[in-house]
Amino acid sequence: MHRRVVSAAPTRRQLIGGAIAGSAALALPFPTLAATGEWRLAIRNVHTNESVDTVFARDGRFVAAGIDELNHGLRDWRTGEATTMDRRLLALLVKLRERLDLPGNRKIDLISGYRSPKTNAALRSAGGSHTGVASQSQHMLGKASDIMVSGVSLDRLHGAALSLGGGGVGYYPRDGFVHVDTGRVRRW
Ligand SMILES: [Zn+2]
Repeated sequence: MHRRVVSAAPTRRQLIGGAIAGSAALALPFPTLAATGEWRLAIRNVHTNESVDTVFARDGRFVAAGIDELNHGLRDWRTGEATTMDRRLLALLVKLRERLDLPGNRKIDLISGYRSPKTNAALRSAGGSHTGVASQSQHMLGKASDIMVSGVSLDRLHGAALSLGGGGVGYYPRDGFVHVDTGRVRRW
């Protein structure tokens, strides 16, 4: 669906290069932005019921306003702190939604996105059931999200996430979500 762009304009190359700077060793190559088309994400925070529905890439370029909206939508809802989310995670969520044959405006329910050091420390000391609450949590790096999709079984969501092979996938049926991150490929 997303054609490989053979000749990239310097601006686009710069943008894509910036997105993967420092992560060349990761197994997941950054999905190539199609020369035409959009990457859209609709996300609802289940704790605040706040929704974001935005296009963050269009015609081979990232859309700064859309990226900003998603950084805000995926912020640490406990403290209000936001970070620059990994664009590969945003792309991974688009791929996941496409794998499930869902339209671009279909909301992904967000249980947890970015976690500030303060929140992560609090969750760790509380001994939460989330084994992903590690000292080097991908959530703290802006590379992880805990999600579910209304109307899609957790089992199916889990299978779709695994089939992408885009990073870490954690299954939390008791808590009702799947964890996806853009760290190295692993599962638990
Ligand atoms: Zn998680």
